[in-house]
Amino acid sequence: MSTVTAIKSCATTACAYNHGGCTAFAITVGGDSTDPACSTFVSLDARGGLPVAEGHVGACQRLECIHNTDLMCTADAITIGADTATCQSYKAR
Ligand code: SF4
Repeated sequence: MSTVTAIKSCATTACAYNHGGCTAFAITVGGDSTDPACSTFVSLDARGGLPVAEGHVGACQRLECIHNTDLMCTADAITIGADTATCQSYKAR
């Protein structure tokens, strides 16, 4: 794999890494098959991450997703949203 998956948008504004999008350098997607979700999501009385919203998917544990190869995401970009930071690009095989 020569590229990493961009986070096109993240609407989970409760996350400490959300400043108009994801500012974490890379996230891990985990959760379960009923709610594939960002495991990097954290709700704190602080904001952190990079100064720009250019997050990427560093790893993904949802092996059953059609975009998953070797525990990595192969989609060009993904969208995150909802209260629990759901991966809205998830699609079960
Ligand atoms: S699209 Fe699939 S492989 Fe990519 S991060 Fe979401 S759940 Fe993981």
